Amino acid sequence: MTTTTIAVIGAGIGGLTAAAALHRRGIDVHVYERGDTLREQGVGMHLGPNGTRLLNRMGLAGQLARNAVRPEALEVRAFHDGSTVARQEMGVAWEERFGAPYLTVHRGDLHRMLASLLPAERVHTGRELTGYEEGAKGVTLRFAGGTVTRASALIGADGVHSLVRRRLAGPERPVYSGNCALRGLVDAAALPDLDPALMYMFAGPAGRVLLYPVRGGRQFTYVVVAPAPEGLDESWTSTAGPADLDATLAGWAPQVRALVGTAREVRRWALYDRAPLERWSTARTTLLGDAAHPMLPHHGQGANQAIEDGVALAICLKEEASGAAGIAAALRRYEATRRPHTTRVQLGSRDGRPTTTQKRNPSMTNNLGNNGSNNNRNVNNQAADMAWILANDVEANLNRNDNLHSNAA
Ligand SMILES: Cc1cc2nc3c(=O)[nH]c(=O)nc-3n(C[C@H](O)[C@H](O)[C@H](O)COP(=O)(O)OP(=O)(O)OC[C@H]3O[C@@H](n4cnc5c(N)ncnc54)[C@H](O)[C@@H]3O)c2cc1C
Repeated sequence: MTTTTIAVIGAGIGGLTAAAALHRRGIDVHVYERGDTLREQGVGMHLGPNGTRLLNRMGLAGQLARNAVRPEALEVRAFHDGSTVARQEMGVAWEERFGAPYLTVHRGDLHRMLASLLPAERVHTGRELTGYEEGAKGVTLRFAGGTVTRASALIGADGVHSLVRRRLAGPERPVYSGNCALRGLVDAAALPDLDPALMYMFAGPAGRVLLYPVRGGRQFTYVVVAPAPEGLDESWTSTAGPADLDATLAGWAPQVRALVGTAREVRRWALYDRAPLERWSTARTTLLGDAAHPMLPHHGQGANQAIEDGVALAICLKEEASGAAGIAAALRRYEATRRPHTTRVQLGSRDGRPTTTQKRNPSMTNNLGNNGSNNNRNVNNQAADMAWILANDVEANLNRNDNLHSNAA
């Protein structure tokens, strides 16, 4: 039996960020990952300024500059002929507006960067949590194969199908959105009509295609969100095929057909929606990332929110945690900071879904007094919501609250 202080379950983007932020603050932390190796499924992702400002402060600015792309603009194209419908300048304009860059990055690259912030002996692969007991003096963690470990606190960063969330919140019934995401990577050279300095959105009547550059613009990630029957897996381990892409995008613009002609490995993720949780924590256990707030991907914020969670948790544990009362207070403060924020992001993420989804599932409301089929919030509200999300600086907010607290004392 070994003893650690903070045990993080799951070495995804959320778990690694939390562990790196804790380690950086001198807190004893170990990460337990069920996979035999450290790797991230999937292709590209968006990193908003709310995430990049934190990653930069953790020392990743140089690696991000070398591996990610700062798209100059988002072009919205007509799905049937590819003509430009609208253009949103990003690049320098957004970096100045939000105080940090908006980047697109390959998930594997970001995952490697985060892992590089931790000594190898802090990350244990091939360790699947199967159960745990929380007591007055600590948490006992049980892993497949019979290994047992003790920790002062347990952080469930174990993703959308989290065991820790089930233990904390009980069983749940996810609601199928009516849509799947198909995605993969293609070489930018195979799409000569598209500029690898830009992001593209082709918005059709029954779905949409998002294309954005990764790996210094050498490749595009594509994400196709379109209706699909229920029953497919909520996981990137579910593969589709070029034929699925072909059928979904029949009759679309030449640029989209060029994508269909070159795409080889196509992965599929069935999009499910879950209500925000009422509670994340007990005295020694809490949740983080998708385990805490699984959200639809339409705002491109799940991993960004996980990064914010990781940094917030480390700040709270550093400032409050000495002894059992300190850990409980730190987890309370973490949840009080993060749960209202991520609840708003989680509910807002429902608004970005394609309109067909709203017809298929009018029961999915944004809990703000409207239902999906009413075309609930207008585009201006969505833009304001995104600006609120991207402007967030979770570290500055926590420090500001600390100052207010000490000034009042
Ligand atoms: C189509 C799509 C597009 C998206 N695009 C974006 C985007 O552009 N930007 C963005 O910010 N987000 C995006 N997201 C969301 C993002 O992918 C997730 O929010 C993010 O990866 C969650 O990270 P996590 O670390 O919380 O969970 P995960 O990445 O799921 O990591 C959980 C880890 O825990 C491990 N694990 C699970 N159970 C156990 C156990 N019992 N014991 C030990 N280990 C365990 C798993 O193996 C895994 O490594 C998208 C999602 C989808 C579906």
